[in-house]
Amino acid sequence: MAAAVEISLPNGLKYSQPTGLFIGNEFVPATGEKFAVINPATNEEVITLPGASEADVDKAVAAARRAFEGEWSELAAVDRGSFLYKLSELIDRDRKLLASIDAFDNGKARHTYTDALEGDIDESYNVFKYYAGAADKITGRTIETSPAKLAYVLQEPLGVCGQIIPWNFPFMMLAWKVAPALACGNTVVLKPAEQTPLSALYFGKLVVEAGLPAGVVNIIPGIGSVSGKALAGHMDVDKIAFTGSTNTGRAIMKSAANNLKNITLECGGKSPSIVFEDADLDQAAKWCHSGIMYNQGQVCTSTSRIYVHEAVYDDFLKRFVEITKENARVGDPFSSETWQGPQVSQAQYDKILSYIEEGKSSGARLLHGGSKHGSKGLFIEPTVFADTTEDMKIIQEEIFGPVVAISKFSTEAEAIAKANDTSYGLAAALFTEKISKAHKVARKLQAGMVWINSSNDSHFGIPFGGYKSSGIGRELGQYALDAYTQSKAVHVNLGSRL
Ligand code: NAP
Ligand code: MG
Repeated sequence: MAAAVEISLPNGLKYSQPTGLFIGNEFVPATGEKFAVINPATNEEVITLPGASEADVDKAVAAARRAFEGEWSELAAVDRGSFLYKLSELIDRDRKLLASIDAFDNGKARHTYTDALEGDIDESYNVFKYYAGAADKITGRTIETSPAKLAYVLQEPLGVCGQIIPWNFPFMMLAWKVAPALACGNTVVLKPAEQTPLSALYFGKLVVEAGLPAGVVNIIPGIGSVSGKALAGHMDVDKIAFTGSTNTGRAIMKSAANNLKNITLECGGKSPSIVFEDADLDQAAKWCHSGIMYNQGQVCTSTSRIYVHEAVYDDFLKRFVEITKENARVGDPFSSETWQGPQVSQAQYDKILSYIEEGKSSGARLLHGGSKHGSKGLFIEPTVFADTTEDMKIIQEEIFGPVVAISKFSTEAEAIAKANDTSYGLAAALFTEKISKAHKVARKLQAGMVWINSSNDSHFGIPFGGYKSSGIGRELGQYALDAYTQSKAVHVNLGSRL
């Protein structure tokens, strides 16, 4: 057995953190390279954890395969749903602890800790509940092909699903991936991000408590280029579901090609907001601000480019800077005063600061922020650039931090062309009080999700995913049931003619 570690969280909560790997309903030692878990608010190491080696990945996949072929496949769908419901209840019971673990490990502030109980963990609870109800409603169709023949379609699970998740919504990404996969009758091997392994390992305890058969859920923290790569290339894994950067998505697609795995990729974005001259500017500024600054700017759908009609450009900038100032309460994620916590890691912090320098040297007008915040921890000032141009790196590349690029446009066609002028296509927001314009422009935006007079909305019942280099496939809602099943057509001959 791998040893557990007692952790005291900054808000006084104490708990027993499992370590190692969760395989076959046990926490077992890992044999791969060690990695450090840091608290980004102090940039200090909390513990080091051993990561999964290739041999460990083999063990986890074998456990998932045994479970898939054993008891799990014999269960009625309604009983799979009951397990998911039980997990949702345990998540709800531990919501404060889970939210606190993610606040500690990731640096999540406001939306996940202070408002924690309405944030990521409640979403995760709802996701498990939603798929608990969905498990026994996965049906195929019956099609009569002639008076003497019919075919029926079975929606069957894919088998062993490898799931590789990022650090920006540690527990919620687990929920988005694990719940639909199990609802459909698959088993899973999940690799959490190196930066945020704690809540995923804790989830192993809930899996045991919920009484799931051994091997249905396996959790293998580790280094992406070792355990993630081994999982993506494993010949006995049937599907890979990934969320993270587009470059890693590409590498995973290549690794997954060996046995033609089913894949779902949810990758990066550089999502635009368009503010038309007839928008409610107070509302637009409010949504555009949270659209980029929420979660420290570490959101794949963050609206990091804002295009504002020239007639309201100066007015919008004034309001946007005011809201940024009001919410520039950067600091301790556990303080109720804090709006913005630290960035997740030194690497992300350095990368964001280098983009800020790049923005300054490329001639963008700095309206707010522009440097690190404080002397300890990985804090960065919310940074607002105006008068940006399409050739600038800060307009073209995903920064994944609290940095926004704002520029103006004159015509609707120009706004749409600029919004679509990127290799990404995850999301887009538009602000107007004209209903016909809103729907017309929504159709022209190359994005998997469009928000009208809002930003960053997602819901467990609504498909989530991107166009272009932002990904392949959709998560959540009924769409995830398609992503985690395959159809089998059974042809039935009722007559006697060939
Ligand atoms: P990343 O490298 O794409 O990491 C995402 C996940 O993939 C992690 O679990 C990672 O493991 C794993 N991974 C890394 N290399 C792999 C490989 N060769 N094969 C299989 N799995 C692999 O993202 P990151 O380095 O954490 O962040 C870099 C950038 O990604 C960010 O700046 C941001 O632009 C983007 N990002 C996007 C999202 C999103 O929601 N779309 C989320 C996070 C990051 P390790 O943790 O061990 O590396
Ligand atoms: Mg951490």
